[in-house]
Amino acid sequence: MANTTYEKIAEKLMVKASRLMTDILQMIAEPMEAELLLALPGTPKQISEKLGIPTPKAEAQCHRLYEKGLALKTFKGGALGYRFHRDITMFRDATSHWPQAPKAYHDLWKRFMEEEWPDYARIEDKRKPRAGGRIIPIERSIAFGKQQILDSESVITIIQNAERLTVTNCICRVIQRNCDMPLETCLQVDNSARYMLDRGIGRAVSKEEAMDILKECEDAGLVHMTLNKSSVDHFICNCCECCCFALPLVIKEGLNLCAPSRYQAEIDSALCSSCGTCLDRCHFGAIEEPGTDVDETGMEVNQDKCMGCGLCYSTCPEQAIRLLEVREKTFIPE
Ligand code: SF4
Ligand code: SF4
Ligand code: SF4
Repeated sequence: MANTTYEKIAEKLMVKASRLMTDILQMIAEPMEAELLLALPGTPKQISEKLGIPTPKAEAQCHRLYEKGLALKTFKGGALGYRFHRDITMFRDATSHWPQAPKAYHDLWKRFMEEEWPDYARIEDKRKPRAGGRIIPIERSIAFGKQQILDSESVITIIQNAERLTVTNCICRVIQRNCDMPLETCLQVDNSARYMLDRGIGRAVSKEEAMDILKECEDAGLVHMTLNKSSVDHFICNCCECCCFALPLVIKEGLNLCAPSRYQAEIDSALCSSCGTCLDRCHFGAIEEPGTDVDETGMEVNQDKCMGCGLCYSTCPEQAIRLLEVREKTFIPE
């Protein structure tokens, strides 16, 4: 009976065939909480009527679901309500951020991400018309004066315009633990920051500290990523190629989980000393060594592979790299 409830929740998350999802759900949601999840969306009053329980009890239990990251708040018509997640990665992130989530919960997610997620990601790749994430370039790497930089692709503008900023641990690295990259690197902006503070997760940061965190991420070779839309009131992630839910599958299989920025690197062969620093710095294998012809000097950028992150720019000792705008503004969805 309990299993049926958890299986129905797995179906809502579009992972019905998962071998691990019922274990994951059972670890985070009590049977009564699972019943409540299936009764969402609704206000506590509507939930109380659906389940035949007193409204104060429904209210307290809905709030508990929210604290655990199992449900999200809604304010339709000004009334507080709750809804379930629409996709598996949001569900993973929100519940794994719950401060009381046991290590065993993260371990189960690690197994899910390694054993099952790639198949679901391949399905998502075919189902979704566009990537959910998009790379934001390191702003200094863009050749100023000639290129347009939109507000939604400028970390400086995003941070300067933010009313509220928080930082949390990178949940992909908390779960996967495949590298020793910095952990406290996920920045939330405005609505997402308010959500984190409301759940008591992470901490508020000033604009100056947010910029320092982004610089630390750049130095460490982490890729800035955000949601693929033209307003940024959510997050700036700083991703590694080994723990991230998206980048390894973008790199190895070319899945459309994360779009490139509107820019691409270009190397000035007259300046390049072929030191090879950019070869190691690029996560996407986009830097290629010159051929054997005498007139081929300096590294080259493979335009098909370059994701326009700008990481190669910031460690080039000869300042031989710059980013050029290669995609229209309309590349970024409204
Ligand atoms: S998407 Fe990137 S920064 Fe965000 S949680 Fe995953 S690896 Fe960390
Ligand atoms: S880091 Fe700069 S100088 Fe070194 S190989 Fe790359 S482009 Fe050339
Ligand atoms: S060449 Fe590599 S490191 Fe440089 S911008 Fe392109 S993807 Fe980023």
